[in-house]
Amino acid sequence: MKIKNIFEEKEVVFSLEVFPPRPDVPIENIYQTLEELKDIDPDYISVTYGAGGGLRKNRTCELSSIIKEKYDVEALAHLTCINSDQETLNKILARLESKNIENILALRGDKPVDGEALGDYNYAYQLVEHINKHNDFGVAAACYPEGHLETESLDQDLEYLKQKVDHGVDYLISQMFFDNSLFYKFRNKAEKKGINVPIEAGIMPVINKKQVGRIIELSDAYFPKKFQKILDKYEDNPEALRDAGIAYAVEQIVDLISSEVDGIHLYTMNNPYVARRIKEAVGSLITHINGKKAD
Ligand code: FAD
Repeated sequence: MKIKNIFEEKEVVFSLEVFPPRPDVPIENIYQTLEELKDIDPDYISVTYGAGGGLRKNRTCELSSIIKEKYDVEALAHLTCINSDQETLNKILARLESKNIENILALRGDKPVDGEALGDYNYAYQLVEHINKHNDFGVAAACYPEGHLETESLDQDLEYLKQKVDHGVDYLISQMFFDNSLFYKFRNKAEKKGINVPIEAGIMPVINKKQVGRIIELSDAYFPKKFQKILDKYEDNPEALRDAGIAYAVEQIVDLISSEVDGIHLYTMNNPYVARRIKEAVGSLITHINGKKAD
C-alpha cells in the first residue's frame, strides 16, 4: 500500500523507524524487536539506509521486505543518492520493486566529511525526480523544522523544500526537535510557501546522555531549558533518565496531536520497550482522533 493512502484514511499517522543490524550478525537478531514493535500497531515502519555505518545499506531492502512480508506491516525504505551513480540507483530501485516495496524515503545523505561525493546527484530533489521518472513508488522526503545544518536560513531551506516537494513528494518526515513551538513555526511557514503535503513530526525519546552528543552532531537541535534540566538532574541514574526521556517525548506528542499534527514518526533506536511505553501513553488519543475521522 502506498503510505499516502494511510494519510488520506487517518487524521494522525503513527510510524516507527528502525536501523538494520550490522552485516556481521544474523538478520534474525532483529526479529524479537520487530515482533514487539508490531504489537504496538504502527501504521508503517521505516528502515534507515547507511545510518550508523555504510555497510548496513545492503540490508535496508532485505529488512523492509521482512517487515512487509513476515510481519505484515507497511514498510518505508530509506535511500540516499549522494554517493551513488544512476546505474547503482536503478539496480537498488529494481531490487526494491522485486521485493514488493512500495514506499521510499528519498534522501540526499550526509556529505562525506573527508572527500568529494561520488554520485550523479547532489540533492534529494534529483533523487525524487529520478524515482518518479523511472518507477512507481510512493515517495516521502525529509524536512528540518530548525533548518538544515548546511543552509543559511530557514527561509532558504523552505525554498529548496518547496522545490523538492514539487518534484513529486507525497509527504514529509521531520528531523527530530525538542521544542514544539519551532515545529509549529516551521509548519506555518511551509504552508505559506505552498507546501501542502502532510508533515509527520519526528520524535526522538532521549533516554541516555550518550545520545545527546550524537543529536547535536546530526541536527544541532535546540534543547529547551526544561529538557537540559532533565539531562543534568538524572544523568547519573539511567532508569530515572530513561523514564524522564519517555515522559518528555510523551508530553511533546500529546501537544502535537492536540495541535493537528499529521503524524508522529518515532525514532525507536531499535528499543521496543521505549516505543511501547510511549504508544501506551498516547495510543488512546490517536484512536480517539482517528475514530472521529472515520465517523
Ligand atoms: P536535501 O533535501 O537535498 O537538502 C540538503 C541541503 O541542500 C539542505 O541544506 C538544503 O537546503 C540544500 N538544498 C536542497 N536543494 C538545493 C538546491 N537546489 N540548491 C542548493 N541547495 C539545496 N541519512 C542517511 O544517510 N540514511 C538515512 O537512512 C537517513 N534517514 C533520515 C531520515 C529522516 C527523517 C531525516 C530527517 C534525515 C535522515 N537522514 C539519513 C539524514 C539526511 O541524509 C541528511 O540530513 C542530509 O544531510 C540531507 O538530506 P536531505 O534528503 O534532506 O537533502
